[in-house]
Amino acid sequence: MSKTAQNTDSLPSHLFRQAVEQAAQAISITDARANILYANSAFARITGYGQDEIVGHNESILSYRVTPKLVYETLWAQIQRQRPWNGLLVNKRKDGSRYLADVTITPVVSEEGETAFYLGMQRDVTEVHRLERQVQNQKTLIESVVDAAQVAIVLLDENERVLLDNHEYKKLIGDLGKEPAVRLLAALREQLGDVWQEACDKHRNLPAREVSIVAPNRPVRWFSCSVSWFEEHDVGADAFYEPMRRHYLLLTIQDIGELKRQQEAIRINGLRALLAEQERVQGLRETLAGAVYRLEEPFNVLSAVAGLLERRLSTQGADGVPVQALEEALRNSREALDTLRACIPEHADEAVQTIDLNETLADVLKLATPQLLGAGIVVEWLPSDKPATVSGHAAQLANLFKQIIDNAVEAVNERRGGKRELRVTCRVHPDHVEACVEDSGPGIAAELRYKVFQPFFTTKGAAKNHLGLGLAMAQEAATRHGGSIDIDPDYRIGCRMRVQLPMTNGGSHD
Ligand code: FAD
Repeated sequence: MSKTAQNTDSLPSHLFRQAVEQAAQAISITDARANILYANSAFARITGYGQDEIVGHNESILSYRVTPKLVYETLWAQIQRQRPWNGLLVNKRKDGSRYLADVTITPVVSEEGETAFYLGMQRDVTEVHRLERQVQNQKTLIESVVDAAQVAIVLLDENERVLLDNHEYKKLIGDLGKEPAVRLLAALREQLGDVWQEACDKHRNLPAREVSIVAPNRPVRWFSCSVSWFEEHDVGADAFYEPMRRHYLLLTIQDIGELKRQQEAIRINGLRALLAEQERVQGLRETLAGAVYRLEEPFNVLSAVAGLLERRLSTQGADGVPVQALEEALRNSREALDTLRACIPEHADEAVQTIDLNETLADVLKLATPQLLGAGIVVEWLPSDKPATVSGHAAQLANLFKQIIDNAVEAVNERRGGKRELRVTCRVHPDHVEACVEDSGPGIAAELRYKVFQPFFTTKGAAKNHLGLGLAMAQEAATRHGGSIDIDPDYRIGCRMRVQLPMTNGGSHD
């Protein structure tokens, strides 16, 4: 006799019956054909059949006839091999209502190895199933809403492992390779520094931030990313009495490349309009100043002549009428000159700021792109590896380089045949920044190297609408910024314009 049997022998025999009778779970005992021989009170409670009513009936009385036949075949195949079976069956109570039963059937094997009885135990799991289905439905609903969203959404655990993502995020993986979320989080971490660390430590949400991803040989991609945290109670058994929380990070990613392109186009167009206006005003200033300068010369001669005439006439005692008339004419001319001088527009009042010449040059090249493409000019742009910071007026400096680059494009266009190249470089020296614009045009003759910076000097002639003010204005801007502009005499395969400006030292150069 086994040890267990020995132990139970000491228990009163009615104890087993009472235990089964009072068990909270529905229990039934059947013969080998599933005819019910015994059912406990919990069985009666679940099925609605009184204990006396059910005895003698087959268990199939409970079948609602929707459970697939295969389930019953499996059930019987299993228990006939003297193995317990467990599964879900759709049952019908005495009143016709249905419930989902979690049924376990255990063959009761005799000492001879025969199965004469089966022990059936069942629980009504309708409510559990309803809740499970509800959760499943909600999950499906959430997943389909998330999937339909026009922004990429990705859920990560605290180790930045992706747990859930949506259709838009999968498209991002296609574009950027794996794993865009991790790359964007790294970019956010670098951009935000301590703010990011604090947000992670305190699980604080972060509003949308603009982040860029740079991939080799690919254009920069811009995204707007926002981070929200939420916590979940651990569902493991360990955490049943001692709740543990897990934090998850929800990253929402919106591709703002198009928006950035539009913003950039607006910025460049604004710059183009500003430079055009500045060029117009500066041209007007230079023209009026030039005109005043030119008129002053004959005016001074006339003044001298009038003085001479006056002296002569007075010594000869002659009539002073012609002199008076001349003086009248001179007074009128002086007034006209003063009026003209007053019309010279002032320099635009532009704030002094720290400027990276690399950005200025890149902007000016962008402005010149249509001309460069139209002329089929190959551009080589070599920015400095460090920021080329100078202090000054952004629009004036942009205009300075625009004049030089416009001249370089025209020079290349002048040359028939040969290379059509433009090379723009920016270098940072210990105390100054040097920007060079080299073109493959005809170059500038040695005797003209200084003249070209004089107002109204032009090699192109008025027929081409050239006033000869471009380089004069560029030089004026360089001087106003404490720098210089010159033509490299050693450059012989075209023209190399060199602009040198002091490194950032703040203050105005006005
Ligand atoms: P069928 O599967 O077509 O068979 C009709 C009857 O023939 C069966 O009820 C059974 O008495 C007998 N039978 C069928 N196959 C075999 C076989 N291979 N060997 C011996 N006899 C067989 N069903 C439920 O729907 N709900 C329950 O809660 C439920 N509880 C059960 C509890 C126990 C302990 C056992 C042994 C069976 C239980 N069954 C239950 C199964 C039930 O006996 C039927 O098999 C099932 O209801 C299918 O009904 P049916 O009329 O289509 O029967």
